[in-house]
Amino acid sequence: MPEYPAAVPARLRYRLCRHCGRALVNFADAEGVVRTRCPACGWIHYPANVVGIGAVIVTPAGVVSLHPPGGGAALPGGVVEIGERPEDAVVRACRQETGLEVEVVRELGRWFWPDHPHGPMLSFGFEVRPVGGTLRDGLEGRAEVRPCGAFPAIAPARKGSAIRTPP
Ligand SMILES: [Zn+2]
Repeated sequence: MPEYPAAVPARLRYRLCRHCGRALVNFADAEGVVRTRCPACGWIHYPANVVGIGAVIVTPAGVVSLHPPGGGAALPGGVVEIGERPEDAVVRACRQETGLEVEVVRELGRWFWPDHPHGPMLSFGFEVRPVGGTLRDGLEGRAEVRPCGAFPAIAPARKGSAIRTPP
């Protein structure tokens, strides 16, 4: 079984080639980095970080908070789909989770979450503002607007909503 760097989660440690089924092996690339590849078809496995986004939807009355079942609050957010820009992913997530059409005001920063359940996640935070739609509940729970100074505690299962800028 090939060896992987410690940061690679167990579910991304392949033993067999995803294309032809042969057993994968380690090799050292031209710079001495140990990688995993298929000796039959040549496929090289480059495990990647997951890319995520989070949104602070600022309205004249305050910030949109989501209230998932189980208590606590969250910000709209999720995973950036393959081929999608973070700026587009945040607009999509806000539509899906709140019913609001938004536009990006500014990027708030990025952070790295090495132990995210989906794998190491690089996430981008955005301030956005509504430009259409109607606030409604969504897949992530009840949606409401809270005054900026009264944002509820973040739900333990949504700790990625604790957007912070890097030091
Ligand atoms: Zn192969």
